Amino acid sequence: MNHDIDIKKVRVNCFRQSKVAGEFMLQLRVPGGLIDAKYLSVIQEICQRWGNGTFHIGTRQTLNAPGIKYEYIDEVNKFIKDYIKGVDVEMCDVDMEVNEAGYPTIGARNVMSCIGNAHCIKGNVNTYKLARKIEKLVFPSHYHIKVAVAGCPNDCVKGNFNDFGVMGVHKQVYDIDRCIGCGSCVEACEHHATGVLSLNAQGKIDKDTCCCVGCGECSLICPTGAWSRGKQLYRVTLGGRTGKQNPRAGKLFLNWVTEDVVLGMFANWQKFSAWALDYKPEYLHGGHLIDRVGYKAFVKHIFEGVEFNPEAKMADDIYWAENEQRGNMHVMPLSQHKFAGPSDERGYSFAPKTK
Ligand code: SF4
Ligand code: SF4
Ligand code: SF4
Repeated sequence: MNHDIDIKKVRVNCFRQSKVAGEFMLQLRVPGGLIDAKYLSVIQEICQRWGNGTFHIGTRQTLNAPGIKYEYIDEVNKFIKDYIKGVDVEMCDVDMEVNEAGYPTIGARNVMSCIGNAHCIKGNVNTYKLARKIEKLVFPSHYHIKVAVAGCPNDCVKGNFNDFGVMGVHKQVYDIDRCIGCGSCVEACEHHATGVLSLNAQGKIDKDTCCCVGCGECSLICPTGAWSRGKQLYRVTLGGRTGKQNPRAGKLFLNWVTEDVVLGMFANWQKFSAWALDYKPEYLHGGHLIDRVGYKAFVKHIFEGVEFNPEAKMADDIYWAENEQRGNMHVMPLSQHKFAGPSDERGYSFAPKTK
C-alpha cells in the first residue's frame, strides 16, 4: 500500500507514482533524445519483466516503463546501472558515481532535442551533441531545470515552452559576385521565414538584418552558393513553461551567441540555484526561481565569468505574459460574445450550435 512507501524518495529515483496504489513508472533519461538502438532491449526487458508490459514514450523524451510494483524497484535499479553508466557517464561524460541505487536525482529534467543536423535538412547544429554537453553541466543536481535544444528556429522540440529553449542559427553570408538574381532566396525567406530579403534594381539582394532569424532557408535554396551559412550561433528563449498555475511561452533572451556562451551559462545554473535558494535546496521549478530572483539578478549570476562574442545580443529586460487561463477573462458564454458583420437571428455571425 502506498502509505508504507516513501513516495518522495522513489520520485527522486526517477520512479513516478501511479494512480494504481503501489505501482510506479520508471523514466530513463535520454539526453538529446538519441541513443544507441541497443538500449531498446533494455527498456523492453524492464517493461516486460517488472512493468505491466506496456511502454510509454515520455513527453520529455524519456523511455518510460509503467506499472512497476514498489517491491521491484530495488531490482530495477540494479538492472539500470549499466544503462545509466552507458548513457550518462560514457555518452555524456557526466561526472557521477553510478551504483545499484538507480538515478541519484530527478531535479534537472531530461535535456531534450530535435534530431537537428544529424538528419534534418533544415538543421543548423548538431543538437544531440549540445544536449549531451548541457546534460554534463546540469545533471545530476537536485535543482530543477528544463532545457530543449532545437536545430533551427522552427523549434520542433518546443524549447519555447522550456525554462531554456536553445536554437541553432547562423549569420548567413552573402557573396554578391555569385548571385545571379534568381530571387529564390527572396521567395524562400518570405514563404518559410520572416520575409526580410528583396531583389534590388541591380538584381542583387537587400536584407533587413534586424528581422533575420538565422534559419538558413536562403542558403538552402540558393543555386549558386551565393548565400552560405556563416558562423554557428544560438538564440535562447527564457522562462517558458507549461503547468496549471501560470503557463507561458518563453521570451527571446539571447541572440547570436556562441556555444561557449550557452555552455558558460548552464555551467552557472547550479551555483545560481543554490544562491537563489540560500543554499537550502527546495523543490521549485527553474522558471519560478528566475521569477523569484528577478531578471536582472538572474543575469548577473548566470553569466558570471562568461565572455560574450562580439555578435551577441541579450535582452535588457524581459516582461513575460502569463497565459490567461487563470483569469479566464476572455472565456464567456456564447450569448455574451460581441460579433461584427452579418449575423443570424440569435446574433451569431458564425452560428455555433448550443443545446
Ligand atoms: S527544429 Fe529545425 S532542425 Fe529541428 S527538426 Fe525541426 S526543422 Fe529540423
Ligand atoms: S537564391 Fe542565390 S543566386 Fe538567387 S537571388 Fe538569392 S542569393 Fe542570388
Ligand atoms: S536566414 Fe532565414 S530569415 Fe534570415 S534571410 Fe535567410 S531565410 Fe530569411
